[in-house]
Amino acid sequence: MIFNNNGKVDDIMFKYPLDDYEKFKQKALKCERCNLRETCTQVVMGEGSLDHKIMFIGEGPGGTEDKKGRPFVGKAGNLLDEILKSVKINREDVYITNIVKCRPPNNRNPHDKEMEACSSILKTEVKYIKPKVIVPLGSVSLKYLLGPDKKITKDRGKWFNKGEIYFLPTFHPAYLLRNSNMKKNVYKDFIKIKKSIERINELYNI
Ligand code: URA
Repeated sequence: MIFNNNGKVDDIMFKYPLDDYEKFKQKALKCERCNLRETCTQVVMGEGSLDHKIMFIGEGPGGTEDKKGRPFVGKAGNLLDEILKSVKINREDVYITNIVKCRPPNNRNPHDKEMEACSSILKTEVKYIKPKVIVPLGSVSLKYLLGPDKKITKDRGKWFNKGEIYFLPTFHPAYLLRNSNMKKNVYKDFIKIKKSIERINELYNI
């Protein structure tokens, strides 16, 4: 977990520049803090708007992301793009990232110690974006961000909060590729997300 109950990030173990996102990114791209870097092609940093106060957080890069060096650009990413488009959210207006920035071998779930090793990067991303809304995509992200007691099947589509940050977990798009009957639920979640974006824009004059 990276947040305390007040929605503040816990201590950042490995320090990154906090006043220059590009410098932070360049440093993060050189990370070799865990064994995932030995088998992946490259570190895949988050991307998108630093200004819109909303983050989508997946689990870790897949094969296409590992090749291209960008998050959510494979089949699951294409579906995410389609869902975003359907509710008129511009991908460029949100920040999209992952819990771990290096592809786990054979797309296995990241291990606890890998997520911990990567947490300084995620926490620093949070420092830049100052999110009001976070969308955990899938079970791994949900449990890591909100606690192991959370269950994606029970908790998706529900709002949770820690301090001033609101979380709306939804199914991972890769899961939707295998379970297309769940898409209608996810569209409902994205309508809620869209409304929250409109509210944030109104409150913060974005
Ligand atoms: N799945 C994820 O969790 N993240 C990606 O970037 C791609 C697929």
